Amino acid sequence: MAFPGGTMDFELTDEQKTIRETVRKFAETKIKPLAHDLDEKEEFSLELTRGLGELGVFGIIVPEEYGGQGLDYSSYVIAVEELARVDGSQAATVAAGVSLGVAPILYFGTEEQKKKWLPRLASGEALFAFGLTEPEAGSDSRGSKTKAVENPDGTWTIDGAKIFITNGSTPMTAGAIVQAVSAKNEKGDPEFTCFIVEKDAPGFTARTMHKKLMWRASNTSELFFSGVKVQASAMLGKRGAGSKQMLKTLDSGRLSIAAMGLGCAQGAYEEALAYAQARQQFGKPIARFQAIAFKLADMALKIEHARWFLYRACWLRDQGKPFGTESAMAKLYCSEVAQWVANEAVQIHGGYGLMKEFPVERFYRDQRLLQIGEGTSEIQRLVISRAIGC
Ligand SMILES: Cc1cc2nc3c(=O)[nH]c(=O)nc-3n(C[C@H](O)[C@H](O)[C@H](O)COP(=O)(O)OP(=O)(O)OC[C@H]3O[C@@H](n4cnc5c(N)ncnc54)[C@H](O)[C@@H]3O)c2cc1C
Repeated sequence: MAFPGGTMDFELTDEQKTIRETVRKFAETKIKPLAHDLDEKEEFSLELTRGLGELGVFGIIVPEEYGGQGLDYSSYVIAVEELARVDGSQAATVAAGVSLGVAPILYFGTEEQKKKWLPRLASGEALFAFGLTEPEAGSDSRGSKTKAVENPDGTWTIDGAKIFITNGSTPMTAGAIVQAVSAKNEKGDPEFTCFIVEKDAPGFTARTMHKKLMWRASNTSELFFSGVKVQASAMLGKRGAGSKQMLKTLDSGRLSIAAMGLGCAQGAYEEALAYAQARQQFGKPIARFQAIAFKLADMALKIEHARWFLYRACWLRDQGKPFGTESAMAKLYCSEVAQWVANEAVQIHGGYGLMKEFPVERFYRDQRLLQIGEGTSEIQRLVISRAIGC
């Protein structure tokens, strides 16, 4: 996926191919056999997360000096795509761990914070959560109520609550990056600052949220901050930079949600194709009926389109070019392709597609979050419509 000398080259680099092969092998051999049971039991798997850490996926974009692999964002997105092709939950653990845990510290952290946290996060020994969403502030993140007040001794006290936070309360969670209102101007406009809150900080508690429709083996939590005192050194970058940091984090994070959509669509399509070739009705495989064959052709078409659309957005990012609009477009498109493909994959399975024994049932549920998390489809359309001058 390099465009050397201004020419178009749609080949993946050798490193990107290796990442795809390695992650696919892990997903097929280690995740696939467990995915159904973990989903049923709503169980976060320490074993798989540690295995993914050993594989190096949490450190793909982390420079070698901080214990990572120092590869491009495209390589990371390919890894997420491969995980989602088999299991949305494990893909979610990695995508949140990297895009929302590693990335803010990598891009906005002080040297001290990078040295302290990145080696542990890159190796998968620890996970960080990203606390933006609140019970009263989802799409409208500027409506956040969580407050950080500076004390006379230079420390800060945080009070508030966050909801729907991925990786917020796993046994590996080392803490959360939390956006808080650090001041208000005379017009009442909030100033946002982000803080790194370690899990053992007095007054910080997390509660796992259960009974989700999708990503049931991924951890989702509520976070509560009651008089949590942090040192000034826990501030992520500069005071007042919180809003920009969160928006930039989400611009990149959306590429990994898009990758989850692409992987989910690919997985559901492969299941549907194999089923249609094997299932016989009226004396022949259902894949031979044009109504089914055309569904599969449309799936293949949309997936291929989504893949190159996403890869181009990642390439723009890797080249240091603007990519915010393309990231919103890729997130919107890939998540809607996942929804369409998973729905058709269930249709091709007939009644069996509604049974838990068949993986398409899980793909059908897992895709549903992708049109909501990290900015709903409506918000992506808002971002795109503004970018095109509406
Ligand atoms: C499993 C899961 C994991 C998550 N992980 C994280 C995480 O790790 N960290 C984190 O901070 N958050 C996380 N989230 C939260 C997620 O990002 C929010 O749910 C999402 O941003 C939407 O916010 P909301 O749920 O409050 O919906 P709302 O913002 O209340 O939206 C409700 C509806 O109104 C629409 N709407 C709102 N505003 C507008 C508008 N201006 N124009 C048109 N339509 C609008 C929305 O599109 C939506 O259809 C997670 C959520 C889930 C379910």
